Amino acid sequence: MRAILSSLLLLLCCCPKALVAEANPAWTTPIAPFRIADNLYYVGSEDLASYLVVTPKGNILINANLASSPKLIRASVEKLGFRWSDTKILLNSQAHFDHVAGAAEIVRETHAGNMVMDGDASVMETGARTDFLSPSPNIDRYAPVPVDRILHDGEAVSLGNVTLIAHKTAGHTRGCTTWTMRSHLPGEPAGTMRNIVIVGGVGFWSEYHFVATPGHPVSYPGIVQDFQHTFSELQALPCDIFLGAHGVYFDMLAKLKRYPQAGPGVFIDPAGYQAFVAQAQETFAKALAKQKAAAE
Ligand SMILES: [Zn+2]
Repeated sequence: MRAILSSLLLLLCCCPKALVAEANPAWTTPIAPFRIADNLYYVGSEDLASYLVVTPKGNILINANLASSPKLIRASVEKLGFRWSDTKILLNSQAHFDHVAGAAEIVRETHAGNMVMDGDASVMETGARTDFLSPSPNIDRYAPVPVDRILHDGEAVSLGNVTLIAHKTAGHTRGCTTWTMRSHLPGEPAGTMRNIVIVGGVGFWSEYHFVATPGHPVSYPGIVQDFQHTFSELQALPCDIFLGAHGVYFDMLAKLKRYPQAGPGVFIDPAGYQAFVAQAQETFAKALAKQKAAAE
């Protein structure tokens, strides 16, 4: 049952708009912000994740979400007692509209430096016009945002005393990014550090072509290798705290129910992380085999 449910969620949470997008109230429903680690907070909605990394030199925001989301994100940041104008760097999980459409407004308001993985930089600078699926009813256009720094696989983003590593986990988008950092959790013994993984995205839908057929090329050259690299990369990442671009990736709402008693430790879930990656890899392998069989 759990396997059926999680494969259903994998299909639903990777943003085929025709299935979920504007009809998904969890994308726009506010949720009280909460602390995950000493310097890491959740400032997104019920399902669209945004993370605030706080440092003595200003803050890093991961994911601007929908065009309508900045107001919600800002309210959460300020409710936690931080200043919106202290947002110095804007990062993202992937250049689909549900994670970056609000970026233009956030950059305008905060003057944050916009840092984007190489495969997604042109997508963001063109407001999704260069997305490999575009034009598509599932790929909403958004306000283009200039990129201040193009990131490459394995590069570090540092501010104050914090360093995040950008892992290129492409396929879902060409620059889909999984962020990792190490941090201490409130309530744990001093010196105990946890490996935090924020999964960028692993899903796809029927518009993704992994196998070329006459008159119908693959979605982009190397898409299969990108997905395969993504799964091996994710499997290899040390993970204590399992997070992602959508709350459904890591069962956020269920874990939050235990948060008032158990605290941020509810997000310690290395087994759930490995199960999520294994499930995604199996879903991909099945789709690839099906497309190969259909092409013969
Ligand atoms: Zn997406």
